[in-house]
Amino acid sequence: MKPVILDNIPFQPTPEAIQQVLDTKLGRRSADALEEFLEEGRGIAKPKAIYRLAFVDEKGEDYVEIEGKKFQSRILRQNLEDVHRVFFYVATCGQELNAWKKSQEDDLEEYYADAVNGMALDVARDYLITHLQKQYGLGQTSTMNPGSLEDWPLGEQRGVFALLGDTEKAIGVRLLDSLLMHPAKTISGIRYPSESSFASCQLCARANCPNRQALYDAEEYAQRFS
Ligand code: SF4
Repeated sequence: MKPVILDNIPFQPTPEAIQQVLDTKLGRRSADALEEFLEEGRGIAKPKAIYRLAFVDEKGEDYVEIEGKKFQSRILRQNLEDVHRVFFYVATCGQELNAWKKSQEDDLEEYYADAVNGMALDVARDYLITHLQKQYGLGQTSTMNPGSLEDWPLGEQRGVFALLGDTEKAIGVRLLDSLLMHPAKTISGIRYPSESSFASCQLCARANCPNRQALYDAEEYAQRFS
């Protein structure tokens, strides 16, 4: 299947929403000034996503092959036990907002702009999930991201990007030699139907991670790797 681009994603953050994200007082900015700043960001923001529907060709003990690409991960293999169709994706805040952030000369404004970038990424991700659910009649879905677990390292990003084609031309996202993505507020991964929800964080023991989405489950970790 050909990749599908989602580049008309609405983005309307309110000062209250950004305040929640920053989890601070307004600091030296008044609410009016923050609203003015956000208005500028809103006018610039173009969050985007790209995805590709793909079918599982083969499953081994600790790998899956999808559309001719081999993905080496025991957990991914386990999670796709009853799954035959998956969605590779990249979602991003967009180059426009990233450039706007970089153009800020004031440290505090750059900090706010970074938070707006993060919110735009969240909006792009949520829009993509809703789109997939509606478009393909999916129930509950889960996701895995290369690099989030030792079991599925960052190098596997190459396979995800190879299946999505020219992401730079499509949505302005580049996979760097370091395997990081540009813009920084970008995520990539594989989304799949699942009866129970799964988040990589359940199998990641990293302490004090600001992005944790689920509690570490030592019992499940032991079961999966026994
Ligand atoms: S806890 Fe943090 S580092 Fe670990 S998988 Fe979750 S987001 Fe990634």
